[in-house]
Amino acid sequence: MLEISLETIRACYTCFKCIGVCPAGLRPNLFVKAYLSSIFKEFRDVYEEIIGGSSIWSCARCLKCVEICPQKVPLNDIIEYLQHEAAKRGLAPKIYLNMAENTMNTYLAFTSQTIVSKDGDFYTTEDIRELLGLAPLPEPIGNEKFKEILNMLRGLDSK
Ligand code: SF4
Ligand code: SF4
Repeated sequence: MLEISLETIRACYTCFKCIGVCPAGLRPNLFVKAYLSSIFKEFRDVYEEIIGGSSIWSCARCLKCVEICPQKVPLNDIIEYLQHEAAKRGLAPKIYLNMAENTMNTYLAFTSQTIVSKDGDFYTTEDIRELLGLAPLPEPIGNEKFKEILNMLRGLDSK
């Protein structure tokens, strides 16, 4: 599990600069509150709301919030921590687990797509790779442990 120093989290003084830069329209300062409430039970409802919601999964990991934070709050680590917590409770969205599984099996987050050109011709993702002269994707190997964990999370996922 990630080790996050409580002192660095408490340094947040709700200046809201992280909100202003987030391209996903998130409120990263709320993640700070959720993290704190996972330790101090006073704001437990914030923690429950955040790990049960979709916002932590909408983060694009652009790190803009981390860059702008005047207090150097480790927002990226906090988001990762909250995602872990949600996954452990079977709250990771199915679409996210599907993308992780596809990446493990094919190196692509989305399985082969069919693309229709403006002339009405059909192409698959593989056709496009070939047309662009890209080498075929290698066989994914050595991901057994990751797959095992993913299957475990799928088993917990009730959505
Ligand atoms: S930018 Fe940093 S200090 Fe300001 S609200 Fe966000 S996390 Fe807190
Ligand atoms: S890392 Fe996530 S929360 Fe922070 S600004 Fe980027 S999308 Fe928003």
